[in-house]
Amino acid sequence: MAKRDYYEILGIPKTASAGEIKKAYRRLAMKFHPDKNKDDKAAEEKFKEASEAYEVLSDSDKKSRYDQYGHAGLEGAFGGGGFDWGNFTHASDFSDIFGGGGLGSIFESLFGGGGGFGGGRRSQQSNSGEDLQISLSLSLEDIAKGVDKKIKISVKEACDKCHGTGSADGNVKTCSQCNGSGHVRQMTRSLFGQMQTVVACPSCRGAGKIIKNKCQSCYGEGRTSNSKTINVHIPAGVSEGQYIRLRGQGNIGIRGGSHGDILVLIHEKEHRIFERQEQNLICEFPVSFSQVALGYEILVPTLSGKVKMKIPAGTQSGKVFRLRAQGLPYVNNSSYHGDLFVQITVITPTRLNSEEKELYRKLSKFDDKKKLHPEKSFFNKLKNFFV
Ligand SMILES: [Zn+2]
Ligand SMILES: [Zn+2]
Repeated sequence: MAKRDYYEILGIPKTASAGEIKKAYRRLAMKFHPDKNKDDKAAEEKFKEASEAYEVLSDSDKKSRYDQYGHAGLEGAFGGGGFDWGNFTHASDFSDIFGGGGLGSIFESLFGGGGGFGGGRRSQQSNSGEDLQISLSLSLEDIAKGVDKKIKISVKEACDKCHGTGSADGNVKTCSQCNGSGHVRQMTRSLFGQMQTVVACPSCRGAGKIIKNKCQSCYGEGRTSNSKTINVHIPAGVSEGQYIRLRGQGNIGIRGGSHGDILVLIHEKEHRIFERQEQNLICEFPVSFSQVALGYEILVPTLSGKVKMKIPAGTQSGKVFRLRAQGLPYVNNSSYHGDLFVQITVITPTRLNSEEKELYRKLSKFDDKKKLHPEKSFFNKLKNFFV
C-alpha cells in the first residue's frame, strides 16, 4: 500500500505554519490516543501515523527533504524498519496528552502491548536480555492509595561458575567480525547516498565474544535462572491492562549482555461494592420505603471510609447522587479524583407481620384519597399509544 501524504494525514495544507502543524497533530493525538481507544488497533495505527507525520513535519531538515522528494527523501531516516515509537522525540512537548508528571514508567505503560513506546530504542541493543512480564492483581483499595508490592520472579542472572562469560576455561575471544561490539552496520542506498542501519552481528549473535569450551553450568549462555524478590511501587489510579516498566531488572543478556526490563501488568480485582468506570466509582445503595418516603441520612461507603449523605424525602428508586471527588485519583495527577455515583434502590418490603400489614392497608387508603395511583397514569399513556 502506498504511504499516505504527511500533510493529508494531518489534514493541513503544504503552506501550514509550525503552529498549525502542531495544532493539527495535537487534535489527532487526542482523538486517537490509546487511552481513549482501548484495544482499537485501527486507532493505534492512526495515532502512530499522525505521530510519524508530525515527527517529520516539525523537523525543518526532514520537512525540507520531504517537501522536495516526498517519502523517498526520508528513506532510512528512521532506521531499517521505518518509523517506530522510539523515533518519536516530541512526547514531552505534549505531556498533557502523553501523560507527563514525572511518571516515566507509567507514561510508557499507557501505550500497552509490545509494540508501544520503547520498542524502537531497545532494538538497537542487540545483546540485551529478554523483558519479563508478570501480572499483579490489585484491589480497588490498593489502586486508590497506590501501593508497594514485593513480587517473586525467576530472572536470568550472570552464571556464577563462569562469571557470565559462558566459557568453561576462560578462553574467550573477541568476535572478529564485529570487534566485540555485538552489532554490525549495514549500508542501504537512498537518494542521499548511503545510509547506515545497525543489526546484530551474525557471527557471535550479538554477544561480541566467541568461546571455545562452553561452561557446563549454563551451557555457554553465561546466565542461569534465579528466583528473586523485587519491589514495585504502583502509583495510585492505575487501571486494568496498564503496566509498570522496571528498567534493567529483567533477564541479563547472553554472555554478559545488558538486562532487559520487567513489565508488571496491572490486573484489577472485582470489588464487592464498587463498579469502576475510568476514575469514577458506582455503587448501588439499598434503602427502605420509609427511608425514601420520609427522607433519611445514610452512611455511604467510599474507598477511604464512610461518608454521610442525605436522601431527601420523596426520592425515587433509581435516583443517582454524585459525591464529588470520592472516586479514584488520576495517575498523572493524584490530587484530582473521579466521583462516586450512588444509585438508590428502594427495596420493597417482604414478609410483613400483621401489624405492618395493617399499617400498609391504612396507608393505601391515603393513596385512594389522594388519587395516588401511579399505574393509572401509566395505562392512560398506553391507551394513547395504541390508538
Ligand atoms: Zn556458566
Ligand atoms: Zn560479532
